Amino acid sequence: MEHNPFDAFIALVEFDAHITMLEHKRDTASKNQQKKQIAQQKASALLDELRAQLKRMQLDIKTQEADLAHLEKTIATKERAKNLLQSSKEIIALEREIKKLEEQRDASETRIIEMLETAEKAHLAFEQQQKSFDDQNISETKEIALLTDEIHALETEIIRYNQQRTIQLSSIEKSFLDEYEHMRKKIKNPVVPVEKDVCTACFYVLNESEKNALVHKRRLLCRGCYRLLYRTF
Ligand SMILES: [Zn+2]
Repeated sequence: MEHNPFDAFIALVEFDAHITMLEHKRDTASKNQQKKQIAQQKASALLDELRAQLKRMQLDIKTQEADLAHLEKTIATKERAKNLLQSSKEIIALEREIKKLEEQRDASETRIIEMLETAEKAHLAFEQQQKSFDDQNISETKEIALLTDEIHALETEIIRYNQQRTIQLSSIEKSFLDEYEHMRKKIKNPVVPVEKDVCTACFYVLNESEKNALVHKRRLLCRGCYRLLYRTF
């Protein structure tokens, strides 16, 4: 069969279809890899954000604790001042002031307890998140590495196929080749096989006279998609 120029041409077409399939596999693996990398980056950014939130909470608690210490100091100072006062009017006024400060101090204490509880919960949630991120990260990193290997293997195979293709080209009749390359500029797969009397690109069903023409001439222009059709044996 190889002596027929058309057979050599079809062998090239099928070779190209195989290269296209490999390229498609490589592109799919590449997209998959990118998706995983983006997901990893997002998860990592989320953790950073949670970490920053925890830090802000700790700072707020520190500020609140400083306020409380200041209040306590003020109350103690006023208590000492009260003991030195003689006038009962002044003592009552100062006691009123101290009472107000004590209320503020109690509120501040309650607030700090609430804040500590919230921070503790947030910290636990963060640790859980960190743990699940680490676990996920290990498996994702493995998957990404596997995809890298797969992409690399496919790349190597594509290069090897393309080298073989160059050798194969020398056995193809120039007229076929010129026409084929011309068509390939417009569409990736301009020559496709017919399977069960159907164009495998556009699923156009061949009529009787087209079936006969295909048998005799071995090739035919598809009326559905204008690709060149050939018969496989
Ligand atoms: Zn077609």
